[in-house]
Amino acid sequence: MRFTFVTLFRPLMEGYFEESILKRAVAKGLLRFDFLNPRDFTTDKHRKVDDTAAGGGAGMVMMAQPLDSALRHLKAESPGVHIVFASPVGKPFRQSDAKRLAAQKRHIAFVSGRYEGIDERVVELWADEVFSIGDYILTGGELPSLVMCDAISRMVPGVLGNAESLAAESFETALLEAPSFTRPKSFHKLSIPSEYLKGNHSKINALKKRLALAKTKYFRPDRYLKFTQRDSDEKSLY
Ligand code: SAM
Repeated sequence: MRFTFVTLFRPLMEGYFEESILKRAVAKGLLRFDFLNPRDFTTDKHRKVDDTAAGGGAGMVMMAQPLDSALRHLKAESPGVHIVFASPVGKPFRQSDAKRLAAQKRHIAFVSGRYEGIDERVVELWADEVFSIGDYILTGGELPSLVMCDAISRMVPGVLGNAESLAAESFETALLEAPSFTRPKSFHKLSIPSEYLKGNHSKINALKKRLALAKTKYFRPDRYLKFTQRDSDEKSLY
């Protein structure tokens, strides 16, 4: 799977792929990352990418022309590319989006805004989807693009060493994942729940389900409520 980052600030992003799981996935040929800088598509001698906001108001806006030319170039080179804009006014990015995009797309481009954002006409012309990663404002779209790319990448078959770990994770079901522990058995007088240590897997799973319920109720009452209102097979497991 290929990811292209359309960004003015490549150095902020590239280190992310040079460690750990994503680095190994690149080495195995499962993932590929590249970058496109709108500044390389400017037509004026100052290589200007931003301008004052039409109608006034604070801050600068990313101009349409450099981004439009960059995306036109990308689309000509890779007609199937799926173009995603990061924006606080987009739809919330969810685990289900990560799964869907990993299953259905072979090439995704993430467009990062900066300043007060992007001239809306570029979004209108090019966006296949617009996503927000949460109700807060970041300086630029680079972190949101990395967040989405990371979540999608780990859904690509072969990227995670142990694919089973995906199934138990939070957001795979209505409930959050049960707490995890590792050695030592006791740490600052806090013990691992004894059932975890006895080796009876059906009992361990039953306890994990109860803990997952308690955790979801405490941290995410919205998801807990949804879960208790469901009349699904999933609920009968608990
Ligand atoms: N003026 C814009 C507004 O109020 O909606 C915010 C612009 S923000 C400072 C600059 C860029 O950061 C945006 O164009 C977008 O690409 C990115 N960004 C900031 N917060 C984001 C979020 N929560 N989700 C996705 N992208 C975000």
